[in-house]
Amino acid sequence: MSRFMGKSAARLKPYAPGEQPQDKRYIKLNTNECPYPPSPEVEKAIRECDPSSLRLYPDPEAGLLREAMARFSGLDAAQVFAGGGSDEILGYFFMAFFDRGDKVYFPDITYGFYPVYARLCGLQAAELPLREDFTVGVEDYLGLDGHIVLANPNAPTGICLEPAQIERILLHNPDRLVLVDEAYVDFAPGKSCVPLVSKYDNLLVVQTFSKSRSLAGMRVGFGFGSRELIAALNRVKYSFNPYNISRLSMLAGIAAIEDESYFRATVEKVRATRDRSAKALSEMGFRVLPSESNFLFACTDRMDGLTLYTRLKERGILVRHFAKPPLGGFVRISVGADGEMNELLKALGEVLKAL
Ligand SMILES: *Cc1c(COP(=O)(O)O)cnc(C)c1O
Repeated sequence: MSRFMGKSAARLKPYAPGEQPQDKRYIKLNTNECPYPPSPEVEKAIRECDPSSLRLYPDPEAGLLREAMARFSGLDAAQVFAGGGSDEILGYFFMAFFDRGDKVYFPDITYGFYPVYARLCGLQAAELPLREDFTVGVEDYLGLDGHIVLANPNAPTGICLEPAQIERILLHNPDRLVLVDEAYVDFAPGKSCVPLVSKYDNLLVVQTFSKSRSLAGMRVGFGFGSRELIAALNRVKYSFNPYNISRLSMLAGIAAIEDESYFRATVEKVRATRDRSAKALSEMGFRVLPSESNFLFACTDRMDGLTLYTRLKERGILVRHFAKPPLGGFVRISVGADGEMNELLKALGEVLKAL
C-alpha cells in the first residue's frame, strides 16, 4: 500500500467484482451479464454516432435518455435520474442522504456493495439476518431508526418480495428512505416498485441496463423517486461528476428502451432457460432457491461450494462462490444461453459422478 494513502482510504474494504478473465475463453456464468447481445437498434445507434461529436461533452442532464425512460415507466422526467450504472446511483444515494455515524439497514445476505459504501461514508451498517429460508423478514424492517436498502429480487438468493410487502415497510418508516435496488426486477414481471414512486415520497427505486438490457459494458442505470429525491441526487452528482453518462451510453440506452419487443423477448428467453435449468438441477439433487432473477443459487450436500466452483472452472465454466457463512455451500450460477446451460449441467453431472 502506498505510504501516501490517507487513513480513511486505508481502512476501506473494496468490493471484489466477479472474475473477468482475459486469458482463455470460459463459459461465463459468474457476473449475471446477459448471454444475448443488445438490441440490433443499439448496434445501429452506435454505428450512426458521428465520432466528431465525441469532442463535445455529453448533455449533463442526460435529457433524451431520461425522457425515454420516463415515457417507458409512465413517470415524469423530473422523477428519473440517470447514472453510469446503478452502482454510481447507489453511491450518490449514500452521499446524499446520510451523515457520518448514521445507521443504514440492509439484510446480512445481499449485494456486497452496500457494506462497502456504508464504510466509505462512515456509516453504521445494521445488517438484519435473513430468515431460515433465505427470505427477507419484512417484520424486522418496520419502524427503524435509519434508512433502508433492499435488493429486490435479492442477491445472491434471487428471492423476491411482493410490492405490497415493500409498501408495508414504506408505511411503517414514513420518515426513513427505502431504497429498492431492482437490478433483477425485469426477470420478475409485476414485482417492480416503480409504480409506487408517485405515492410514497420515501421511496427510491434503482434499476440497471447491465442485466436485462445487455449493456453492462456501457454503464447505464436509473433512479426513480419524487422530484425532491431526484433533485437531491443531482446536487451530489453536480458536486462530483456532472457529465456522468457518455454520449455513446446515452445513444445505446435510448435505442435499448425504444426496442421494447427485443427487450421483452430477451427477458422471456432468460426466464425460460432459468426455469428449465432450475428443474434440471433439482432433479440432480441440488437445492435451488426459488429465483425470480437471471441467476440460480444452488447447493448440494455432496460437495461444498468452493469445490464445485473449482471443479467447474477446471472444466472451463465460471460460476460465483461466496465464502461468507452460510453461503459457503452454494454457488451462484448466472443463466446463460441454452447451450451454455446444457454444458453446465453436463459438467456438474461429471463432477458429481467423479466423487
Ligand atoms: C449488478 C448489480 C448492480 C450494479 O449494476 P451496474 O448497473 O452494472 O452498476 C447493482 N445492484 C445489484 C443488486 C446488482 O446485482
